[in-house]
Amino acid sequence: MIIKSANLETVCGVASVLPINDKPEIAFAGKSNVGKSSLINALLNRKSLARTSAQPGKTQTINFYNINDQFYYVDLPGYGYAKVSEAIKAKWGKMIEKYLRTSKQLKAIFLLIDIRHEPSGNDKSMYDWIVHQGFQPIIIATKLDKINRSQKDKQLKIIREGLEVTADTKIFPFSALTKQGREEIWDYIETICNL
Ligand code: GDP
Repeated sequence: MIIKSANLETVCGVASVLPINDKPEIAFAGKSNVGKSSLINALLNRKSLARTSAQPGKTQTINFYNINDQFYYVDLPGYGYAKVSEAIKAKWGKMIEKYLRTSKQLKAIFLLIDIRHEPSGNDKSMYDWIVHQGFQPIIIATKLDKINRSQKDKQLKIIREGLEVTADTKIFPFSALTKQGREEIWDYIETICNL
């Protein structure tokens, strides 16, 4: 995939009207600090288009990145940030739910999980919730460079079992540092978006 342009086109807060796009959308979800901004930047060959978080959970918006005027990356707010009140969390939940319910163009949701850890309760809730909204999440196991090659299969199994994914669920191991997994994720996106 040659990235000719990648622009942050729309930023939606809880009170915003969501854009009605006529091109395919691919969404990214994951808890704060999982490596979501780093993944988006790595996929787009940009250093800092998506913010990498010094203060996780601070800005909570749905960000729409227009790629090549062909399709959109949709960066969903990171969850699981402890210092946020339940009332605020509920508002974000409603905002994401509204997006998942109303988007006509959403082709896939990638759920990011740190390859080093067993999925948290929040990860499991997010997985179940995405399924409940009628989507089959695709898992990206991030920070692959932080484990030994020999640990990879074991860690992927822990993620599969922790989330209780269906047998046909795809898991892409990925490292923003080495870019391992980048091509496989792009191939998948190109296929589902008919690019
Ligand atoms: P976000 O909150 O999910 O957007 O996470 P960020 O992309 O900001 O990443 C959180 C931290 O993890 C930052 O310090 C990143 O440099 C680091 N990080 C993200 N992805 C990787 C990776 O693949 N490998 C390594 N070693 N560090 C990563």
